Amino acid sequence: MKTVAIIPAGGAGRRMGNGTPKQYLPLAGIPIIVHTLQAFQRSPVVDEIFLVVPEGDIPEVRQEIVDRYSLAKVSLVLPGGKERQDSVRNALQQVSDEHGIVIVHDGVRPFVSGDIINRAVEAVREFGAVTVGVPVKDTVKEVTAEGWVKRTVIREGLWLTQTPQAFRRPILIAAYQKAGADRFYGTDDASLVERMGIAVRMIPGDCNNIKVTTPEDLLWGDLVIRRSSNETGG
Ligand code: C5P
Repeated sequence: MKTVAIIPAGGAGRRMGNGTPKQYLPLAGIPIIVHTLQAFQRSPVVDEIFLVVPEGDIPEVRQEIVDRYSLAKVSLVLPGGKERQDSVRNALQQVSDEHGIVIVHDGVRPFVSGDIINRAVEAVREFGAVTVGVPVKDTVKEVTAEGWVKRTVIREGLWLTQTPQAFRRPILIAAYQKAGADRFYGTDDASLVERMGIAVRMIPGDCNNIKVTTPEDLLWGDLVIRRSSNETGG
């Protein structure tokens, strides 16, 4: 059975302050989304990649991203939807019986390592539903809309969730069917599985595996990439 990685990159995400959706902004000279796709292209545990982008971008993405960077595992480039969950759903509709495991990973998390992908796939074989994350290090406070601290949340047992998240195909399909029927929108895919009462296993991710959100993240990202290419001599 094959393992497919769904990469949602269908956001218009213009929070970065310029007109280009953040997945296409350059990081160490190449688009963020290419870094992300290369991690899955290189991974021996991933067979296929379904890439989701804004509908109007599809022809250009095929040419300037998939072909130009020789991302041969990208077998489908699909149109995104209104919310991230709609984008993932569009890709999930193309997943078939030949896919045993489905990984979902944000297009704008370009620092995902091969090691994390391996560990997520290894864990999903055992547990059925897996997310990666990191324990919360700072003290967490609940704050009112007016800016007053309401309370300090007990930090023990709190984790920040990242992607990749990996699932046995029938589990994710069922979770999306139920979310669709209930018109439920979650902020990640694991939450759709959780609400089915199915246990999701948390495995340690990596604090470098950030979601690129602000221009500062790009500066920091350039440093991380330069440092890792120095270490590998690349
Ligand atoms: O907006 P946010 O940072 O949460 O997006 C996470 C990922 O989901 C990004 O890679 C973004 O392109 C993708 N996304 C999508 N379709 C949407 C909204 C976001 O594929 N409608």
